[in-house]
Amino acid sequence: MAIPVSQAWTVATYVIKQKLAGRKRYPLVLMLEPLFRCNLACAGCGKIQYPAHILKAELTPEECFKAVEECGVPMVSIPGGEPLLHPRMPEIVQGLIDRKKYVYMCTNALLLKEKLHLFKPSKYLSFSVHVDGEKEHHDFGVCREGGHDIAMEGVRAAVAAGFRVTTNTTLFDGADPNSVRRHFDQLMEAGVDSMMISPGYTYDKAPDQKHFLGRARSRKLFRALLSNRKKRWQFNANPIFLEFLMGKRELTCTPWGMPTFSIFGWQKPCYLLQDGYADTFQELLDEVDWANYGTESGNPRCANCMVHSGYEASGVNYTFGSLKGLIATAKAMFGGLYEDPDAQKLLNDWKPTNHGQLVQIGSGILSAESERVNHSESLVAGD
Ligand code: SF4
Repeated sequence: MAIPVSQAWTVATYVIKQKLAGRKRYPLVLMLEPLFRCNLACAGCGKIQYPAHILKAELTPEECFKAVEECGVPMVSIPGGEPLLHPRMPEIVQGLIDRKKYVYMCTNALLLKEKLHLFKPSKYLSFSVHVDGEKEHHDFGVCREGGHDIAMEGVRAAVAAGFRVTTNTTLFDGADPNSVRRHFDQLMEAGVDSMMISPGYTYDKAPDQKHFLGRARSRKLFRALLSNRKKRWQFNANPIFLEFLMGKRELTCTPWGMPTFSIFGWQKPCYLLQDGYADTFQELLDEVDWANYGTESGNPRCANCMVHSGYEASGVNYTFGSLKGLIATAKAMFGGLYEDPDAQKLLNDWKPTNHGQLVQIGSGILSAESERVNHSESLVAGD
C-alpha cells in the first residue's frame, strides 16, 4: 500500500478541518532540515557548500519538536544534509512518532544498514531512500561510484527489518524514461512500499547548473515515464500532482504547503529559494508577499519549477477543494494506468544521452573547508 490507511485518513481529516476553518494557507508537510552536513556531494544539490561552522551546526530535538508543534502539520519530512549524521536523530524521530506525526526520514542510505537498530518499525515512520535511477544514473547523480549498490543494500536491509521504505527519485535533463521505468521495477522488486519522483530544480548552490529541466521538457519526460503504467508501481505522491507533471493539468504553487525549518529559522518562501528567514511560522505566513512566487507570478526563478515541495500540496488542495477534485483523484487512484499510444511511441523513440564523466566525491566540488568537515563527520560515522 502506497501509504497506510491511517495516514490517508489523518491527512484527509486535517485538510478538511483547514478548509472548514476557512484557512487559505495551511501547511501539510514540514520540511525539517536538522543539519546541512552530508556524506555525499551531489552535483544537483550543493547544501554542503555552506561554510564549516554552518555545516557543524544542527537543530536540537527540542527545536525540532517546537517547529512541528508551531505549524501543526500531520506529516514531517526530514531532508538535509544526511539526517543519519545527526547524533540525536533516533531521539528526534521517536519524539515525532510520539506526537503521532507521519515521518519520512530522507537518507542516501550510506549509513542506513549500520544504524537501523537505532530505530523501531512503526506505521508513522518511513525511510525515504534517495535513489535517482539505475546504477549508472544514480552513481552519476550522486557523484559516487558504488552509491547505488549501497543504497539498494540499505533498502533491502530496512525492508527485511520490517520498516516502511519509500524512495525518492529526482530527475534531471538527460534522464532516460526507459531506464527510469526499469528502475521502478527494481525498486518494487526490492520490496519498497512506494516511490516518489520529482523534477530537479535549479538550486542556486548546486555545482551543476546545466542539467535542470525546463517545464516543456519535464512534461515530455514525465508523460513518457508515467503513461502506460504498470499496475505494480506504487507512488507515494498525490495523483493530481503526477498528472500535473505529465502535462495533464495545471496547478499553481502553494509554497506554504511544505514550509522549511532549519538552523536559520523558517525559510522564505519555500524549500528552494532563500529570500530570508522568519522567526516563527506565523511570521512566515504574514511577511512573505506570496504573489511574488509561483510560475504565474512572472518571477523568473519560478518559471521552470514543478517540484513536489511547491506543487504536491497544491494537488492535495485540489483533491479536497471540490467534489470534482475528489472524483478526479479517486479515478486516478483506482483506474489510472494512463494508456497513451503517443506516449508509448515517445518512449520507443527516446534516445538516451551520455552522462559524460562521473564526478567523484571530494574531487573539487567541495571547498577545502567543507570537505574537511564532511570527511571528519564520515570518520565519526564510520563511513
Ligand atoms: S514555483 Fe518553485 S521556486 Fe517558486 S515559490 Fe514555488 S516552489 Fe518555490
